[in-house]
Amino acid sequence: MEGAVSVQEALEMQKRRIRQALERSARAPGAARLLAVSKKQSVEAIREAYAAGQRDFGENYAQELVQKAEELRDLPELRLHMIGHLQSNKAKLVVQTAHSIQSVDSISLAKELNKHARDKRPGHLPKLEVLIEVNIGREPQKHGALPEDVPALVAAIRELPHLTLKGLMCIPPAADSAEESRPFFRAIAELRAELGGEAALPELSMGMSQDAEVAVEEGATWVRIGTAIFGARPA
Ligand SMILES: *Cc1c(COP(=O)(O)O)cnc(C)c1O
Repeated sequence: MEGAVSVQEALEMQKRRIRQALERSARAPGAARLLAVSKKQSVEAIREAYAAGQRDFGENYAQELVQKAEELRDLPELRLHMIGHLQSNKAKLVVQTAHSIQSVDSISLAKELNKHARDKRPGHLPKLEVLIEVNIGREPQKHGALPEDVPALVAAIRELPHLTLKGLMCIPPAADSAEESRPFFRAIAELRAELGGEAALPELSMGMSQDAEVAVEEGATWVRIGTAIFGARPA
């Protein structure tokens, strides 16, 4: 094992990476934010990051998100974001605590979320924000809407009064180098431009531990980083 880097130090390093990539690409400071991906990590690890100032965390599993929300109820500014595939039958569960769902990829899921957001979302929470997950590499085994289906999904979600559509999210094909992800980040940014650009869809959630800089250079507003903050995930 390498000499211990604390969660706090790791967060600082990741924020610096983002800041430098913003500078390099002449984007405003703060134009991209860090989503700390805490899936399979302990609530203690989340508490450590929270104590260091981190407020937004990404989770992949509905059950785990809900359980962590319960165990971390004492952290008033904590925001949990669902970034993993969500089955419609878990929609009811997550709308009770999640700040956003970044993995909406079908009209039926969006309608389920809308219905439960109306009936089950506690009044103290802000309106549920959603992002559309786009299968930008057209990989058959991956979730996400195909690019050509995104315009209809955008229109359908805009009709749903209990959801706020914020933008697009993607996970490009697995790659050996960050540069290999660039064409995919560029493609989703172009798709957004065709759909009205930043004014219509302010958020682009893309980039992970391996390719965060490249994602920021291509316009990411949320960078989702797990391993580089919390270390390897337990199996
Ligand atoms: C796990 C995960 C991440 C973080 O990946 P790291 O390589 O650990 O940074 C980001 N986005 C999604 C959707 C994930 O499932």
